[in-house]
Amino acid sequence: MAKATITAPTDAPETVAETAFRAGHVFDELGMAHDPNNLYLQTIDAVLSAAEILEVPHHLQIILAQPKNEIMVHFPVRMNDGSYTLCKGYRVQHNNALGPYKGGIRYHPDVTLDDVKALAALMTMKCSLVRVPFGGGKGGVKIDPRVLAGDELMRVTRRFVAAIAAHIGPDHDIPAPDVGTNAQVMAWFADTYQNIAGIKDRHDSVRVVTGKPIEMGGSVGREKATGQGLVDVVAEILPAEGLPLEGLRFSTLGYGNVGSWAARLMCERGAKLVATMDHTGAIFNDKGMDAELLAEHCVETGGVAGFGSTAAGHTKTGAHTQAGAEAISEEEFYKTKVDLFIPAALEQMIDQERAGWIDCKYYAEGANAPTTPTGERVLIKNGVEILPAILCNAGGVTVSYLEWVQNKQNVSWDIERVDSTLNKHMVLAARRTQLAKHRYEVDMRTAAYIASLDQISKVYAMRGIFP
Ligand code: NAD
Repeated sequence: MAKATITAPTDAPETVAETAFRAGHVFDELGMAHDPNNLYLQTIDAVLSAAEILEVPHHLQIILAQPKNEIMVHFPVRMNDGSYTLCKGYRVQHNNALGPYKGGIRYHPDVTLDDVKALAALMTMKCSLVRVPFGGGKGGVKIDPRVLAGDELMRVTRRFVAAIAAHIGPDHDIPAPDVGTNAQVMAWFADTYQNIAGIKDRHDSVRVVTGKPIEMGGSVGREKATGQGLVDVVAEILPAEGLPLEGLRFSTLGYGNVGSWAARLMCERGAKLVATMDHTGAIFNDKGMDAELLAEHCVETGGVAGFGSTAAGHTKTGAHTQAGAEAISEEEFYKTKVDLFIPAALEQMIDQERAGWIDCKYYAEGANAPTTPTGERVLIKNGVEILPAILCNAGGVTVSYLEWVQNKQNVSWDIERVDSTLNKHMVLAARRTQLAKHRYEVDMRTAAYIASLDQISKVYAMRGIFP
């Protein structure tokens, strides 16, 4: 199978040219560019369009159009062969009107400042939508973690923390894992911060990051939280619209943390995973695959490819599924007819062409910004209901917040308490979005932004603008 591109969308130039920014007047006022392929500009355009509908005051629109702080650092790291690499890192703090900045740290060779800015702005909107008292931030280091040895990755992390330590803190800016980082990276992160930041209360400063290993103050349920939050939203919306989860056919693009947890939890509720694709290939089984066994296969082999002629499933989903699957092409993957399609890989993968291939009723965004504006128009034209990322993938930051609360109180909650609190946040966010959809007669993405902006603008109205 041809490997899918994750960089520039393939939208036809003439279609992109039609993509005039609706918030172009604000971009002109702030001297911002009009590049339709720029993820940050796309994101802000969508936010400001919703702000117009909600009649958010102009001064607040221009505040939200730019991040408060953009921190860019360069730092040398010693490699195991004795050479030194100069790494580029970012931390963007978009807005903190609702609370400390919050957002993940990404290690990826394609990390750019504008992408990090877009992801930080999405965090502002996401935290507000699920009503956790955090603002929006995001960070990244432009490296490929897959080619680094473990101790090299540790030195990259420690130097990056040293470079940004003055700008983060347990009550100011709280990073977390994202693509290319994990609980181990967060453990090095917290340890470095605690050792260098001149902290009086060293134990309490472990709150500087979430997504930590459970032994170091991480929360139970954090690993599966984003996939679980997505399933909570789907379970709230789809059955009420006549599509029960039992027997529902779905596919996922991406089978990493978000994709595989969403798949496992969907299958637990009786849904059927009929197709999935990741960077190693695409696979299909019309009767449904065993999501649990597939997750184990990915851990063992690095991807979904080769999940073939193994024995029948033996997990609790086994009654509905078979273990194996056949390899299919990328195009066949997208064209597989399903009730629900879950993009859970990287940003901007669903462009105009792929959107035209997708054959589903519902489309629940697990990844951040997986859909290009032209891809979105095609989906809407084809009658697909898009459940947007700031709603569907907010489970991760919600349980990060619960981890931070547990750390602050020096307690550990059990999984039932974490799961039920997460569910409450997700269900209320889904209802808030549906309410805005009906009240303003808009699509679900615009509705989610409206529900989010409603909270932020109320807070700004109360706080006023300093001085
Ligand atoms: P991950 O690294 O665990 O998984 C990424 C998946 O994408 C993998 O299965 C990988 O094979 C696949 N992929 C990469 N390139 C691909 C390609 N070219 N074609 C097909 N598949 C490809 O990452 P994750 O944590 O699951 O995050 C996925 C998305 O969800 C990202 O956009 C991330 O920002 C977002 N997100 C994650 C969390 C979280 O808690 N992990 C929370 C909110 C949002």
